[in-house]
Amino acid sequence: MVLVVEKYGGTSVGSVERINAVAERVAASHQKGERLVVVLSAMSGETNRLIALANEIDPQASSREMDVLVSTGEQVTIALLAMALQKRGIEARSYTGGQVQILTDSVHSKARILDIDAARVRKDLEQGRVVVVAGFQGVDKDGNITTLGRGGSDTTAVAMAAALQAEECRIFTDVDGVYTTDPRIVPEARRLDRITVEEMLELASQGAKVLQTRSVEFAGKYRVPLRVLSSFEDGPGTLITHEVSDMEQPLISGIAYNRDEAKLTIRGVPDQPGVASQIFGPLSDAHLNIDMIIQNVAQDGTTDLTFTVNRGEYPQAKKLLVEIAGQLNAREVVGDDTLAKIAIVGVGMRSHSGVAAKMFSTLAAEGINIELISTSEIKISIGVNDKYLELAVRALHKAFDLQEKATEERLEGAKDD
Ligand code: ASP
Ligand code: MG
Repeated sequence: MVLVVEKYGGTSVGSVERINAVAERVAASHQKGERLVVVLSAMSGETNRLIALANEIDPQASSREMDVLVSTGEQVTIALLAMALQKRGIEARSYTGGQVQILTDSVHSKARILDIDAARVRKDLEQGRVVVVAGFQGVDKDGNITTLGRGGSDTTAVAMAAALQAEECRIFTDVDGVYTTDPRIVPEARRLDRITVEEMLELASQGAKVLQTRSVEFAGKYRVPLRVLSSFEDGPGTLITHEVSDMEQPLISGIAYNRDEAKLTIRGVPDQPGVASQIFGPLSDAHLNIDMIIQNVAQDGTTDLTFTVNRGEYPQAKKLLVEIAGQLNAREVVGDDTLAKIAIVGVGMRSHSGVAAKMFSTLAAEGINIELISTSEIKISIGVNDKYLELAVRALHKAFDLQEKATEERLEGAKDD
């Protein structure tokens, strides 16, 4: 018997009507003889609503209580789906993250999964039941409820699939797959039939919202076959593949962006061993996610360091950096929270040069100033003022011919340095 994990996102379970529609889909797979674990998000808008309630009481509410609060959204949808399945004559059972024993660390609001005890789920499956699991949540070793970060239900699904060695993990969402870029910005954006795990990882971590980054990491690490599909229409979706054949890969597979970025610069830090660790150690201890880091050495024996953080974490990061600057005798700390990040991603970059040059000349032609640059083997990302975001994404999508199907000619057409 084939074991499959299906995950339905917030829009797909956004109303009783839609939950009934999910039940129909699940019932159909069940009748085909598949063993099913279904992971659900909260109804769309619910997690935000809960966060807003907490903010009315205390914007600095403790993260432990925030997790107790926001994890309730998923408990509602799993119970409703289990009822909808039972109404259709299917034996179903819903479980919270704690009940399934999704064990996490204790970093509230962005906990990491350490282990899953799938024994209980297995027993239910053997008895022909559909198991419905609350996404986004887990429990730490002391029994505290934790959550896995926004969009964390994807990670629950992939982790369940890994723990159960499922045949496939299907992520049902409100779009029919992974696109070359956000169709709301570029209407010509195209659905990709397949994309490699590495590319998906870069796209997700650079801002593509379709999958939580952690879920892609899990899929890569445990080689979980992953597919993104629409819950509203039938179609093949996008397969996240583990095999890489550079030959068949387009130069660029996709463009991701993130509007919610900020940058911080610490100026006039003594240029000596240990300084970077004195700066980034405390930031990391505070669980702040630092991205692009740029260091510039001046001639006077000091150095400037610039890095980006998520806009939401900007005030906290800035406060901490000011303290660090005091300890290091640095000259000043400056920041800007109107940054946007854009990344072009493609495994084809590995074997072709000239990609960065093409990216920069495209932006120059539009008069867009690049504030930061960082690269990996298969990604080039830049920071620009957020007012240029749409323009930049459109121009790059066009420059790299992403609206058309990738062809061998295009690979050859890339200019060499
Ligand atoms: N409900 C959570 C959120 O809105 C988790 C998820 O939907 O994946 O972020
Ligand atoms: Mg999501």
